[in-house]
Amino acid sequence: MLTDKFGRHINYLRLAVVDRCNLRCTYCMPENGLVWIKQNDLMTDEEMVRICSIFTKLGVNKIRITGGEPFVRKNCISLIENISQLHNLTDLSITTNGLLTEQYIPLLKEFGIQSVNLSLDTLDENRFFEITRRRSFSQVMKTLDGLLKHEIQVKINTVVMENQNIEDIIPLVQLTRDLPVDVRFIEEMPFNGNDHTTNLHWNHSKILHHIKGHFPQLIKTEDPKSSTSYHYKIPEFIGNIGIIAAYTRSFCGDCNRIRITPSGILRSCLYEGGGINLKDEMRSGKTDEELTHIIIKTIHHKPKDGWEAEKQTLTASQIHQSMATIGG
Ligand code: SAM
Ligand code: SF4
Repeated sequence: MLTDKFGRHINYLRLAVVDRCNLRCTYCMPENGLVWIKQNDLMTDEEMVRICSIFTKLGVNKIRITGGEPFVRKNCISLIENISQLHNLTDLSITTNGLLTEQYIPLLKEFGIQSVNLSLDTLDENRFFEITRRRSFSQVMKTLDGLLKHEIQVKINTVVMENQNIEDIIPLVQLTRDLPVDVRFIEEMPFNGNDHTTNLHWNHSKILHHIKGHFPQLIKTEDPKSSTSYHYKIPEFIGNIGIIAAYTRSFCGDCNRIRITPSGILRSCLYEGGGINLKDEMRSGKTDEELTHIIIKTIHHKPKDGWEAEKQTLTASQIHQSMATIGG
């Protein structure tokens, strides 16, 4: 089992399969996109599966496929299939913006994917365009519908932004009245791929206060171990509410996760700057045993929390990296 020096067991890997995306969410990347990772710097399918296989042998039983937009990667569906066949993996999930996802839903079901995180910051078509810079709202709603019809658990991810989607908080909470979805409100983080610093206006407690103002019957429910989300519910509603304190970082003490970027960088904390490049290690001819050793050593030094990670390793230029490069 992978354990860090604070005794935390690491069993959750978030694998970003590509940095490119077919949306341009304002909180994630500039209008013109990013300086994309060059094709030969991207891990190949074989390299990704090899890394995942090493991690599952080390006790990782949960993998999330993310990006960029995962389905923008060529043949992403066959990569997902190959990862789904790894032994010891009990939970494979995906985070997607829903633009290209609908066509793959039956296959995702076949591969045993039980849960999909769907990003949706607004229920208003025009605001969707303002936030994502693309007119694709109806396609995301079709994907939501398709996932629910196939009985795949859906968690809707909503980044809460001053002057952009505050009027959507209550309609999104209302979605949980009749739909079996978890709507999770996320504090905005400073990972937007440009030099504009995010000032956090809507933290966990402000979002909670806002929801309680409309739904005083809101109750706190149990948070599973290592969850990044604080769980709530309106008793008579089918779905659930979550608030993710991604900026205030109050969940780090229980962290069980690590990230791998599309180019193979192992990040033991979201807020840390660099990390060892496992793709380069593979391409230099390292054996699985040697890679295992490198991984164990890196994880051992996982920072205590996001604040410590930021202080120790980030330079001013790195702090504004996009979530699409890090793997959200
Ligand atoms: N493209 C996919 C999507 O949007 O679902 C997966 C990658 S995206 C980087 C993963 C998650 O990160 C999304 O739910 C998105 O809302 C979130 N995210 C991106 N930038 C963020 C930021 N600056 N603050 C908070 N969450 C962010
Ligand atoms: Fe693309 Fe996801 Fe970033 Fe939006 S949040 S720009 S959908 S990677």
